[in-house]
Amino acid sequence: MSKLNSFISFFLVALFIGCTTEPPRDILTRTVVYEPTEKWMWLHGDKNASEEDLKARFTKLAQYGVTGVLIGGDHESMFRAAKAAGIEAHIWMWTLNRGDEYIMENHPEWYSENRLGVSCWDDPPYVGYYRWLCPTKVKVSDYLAEQVTALAEKEYIDGIHLDYVRYCDVILPRALWEKYGLVQDRELPQFDYCYCSTCRKKYEASHGTDPILLAEPSVDSSWIQFRYDQVTALVNRLSAICQERNKPISAAVFPTPSIAKQLVRQDWVNWKVDRLFPMVYHGFYNEPADWIETAVKEGVDALNGKCKLTAGVYMPDLSSDSTFNLALKKAKTGGSMGISIFGKMSERQFEILKAHE
Ligand SMILES: [Zn+2]
Repeated sequence: MSKLNSFISFFLVALFIGCTTEPPRDILTRTVVYEPTEKWMWLHGDKNASEEDLKARFTKLAQYGVTGVLIGGDHESMFRAAKAAGIEAHIWMWTLNRGDEYIMENHPEWYSENRLGVSCWDDPPYVGYYRWLCPTKVKVSDYLAEQVTALAEKEYIDGIHLDYVRYCDVILPRALWEKYGLVQDRELPQFDYCYCSTCRKKYEASHGTDPILLAEPSVDSSWIQFRYDQVTALVNRLSAICQERNKPISAAVFPTPSIAKQLVRQDWVNWKVDRLFPMVYHGFYNEPADWIETAVKEGVDALNGKCKLTAGVYMPDLSSDSTFNLALKKAKTGGSMGISIFGKMSERQFEILKAHE
């Protein structure tokens, strides 16, 4: 009996100490789980909107619970209007897919070349806007570093959001094969990048082989790894620039670590960023909306707390209210910190978003 009493006393003391010092670990964990969902949206830049229009637009988004926006391009009035409404505003920039007039006219040598020696500069794959820069080239990295530095130093920009930070799709998401009349059950040379002279020399210097001579480049793990590392090094350089300026950096990435590596050579688990927005666009992979949970979980597990993960959803595939609602729930149960919306929403869907916790 006395043993039991002392056990109870010890338990009460432990409980008391627990309450007065720091909460036990399970309570801390629960705090994270019950945090309200962060709500983000990708917004295209709008040069022509008046200040009144912008004020009305962002006030409405704030009322619907939107907490952050990713704004395409440096449109100062949009950033200021978002912030005035209490919304965090990051700049959404295309990173390696760059058809900018300046680069196209002055630096054709910056573009990626495929295994057939064709450059994205004069013959882009799949679509006319696929103008991929080579991440291995120091001048490309310097140029992007300069741009990110300038943007991160602007007081009205709260953070940097990288998009298209990857190689060209060596394999397209399954649902797009028919659209382009392709069967991509293996890596085809015309979509396999980058075999420019910089990449070939750099790889040969470290591995002793010119990658263009590899008999089976699609299964050569060191050549695959080399390309993951080129993008990772670029991202981490841009990340360091943002970190020095106390600006968060994030990236829109392919839906899961394995799909990202296989399709576009994005090894995002090893990126030093603050947040990742995997585009869990189930329709592109011929998957049902339930798959969002599986995809998010794969990313969350692989990251193991290294950075935040916010699931990106694609509105054209979520046109019914029930599917949209399901997508929000599946992202949450998969472990996503929040949700990011791409595409147009109906008033009803805004209401669903507002009600989502
Ligand atoms: Zn290259």
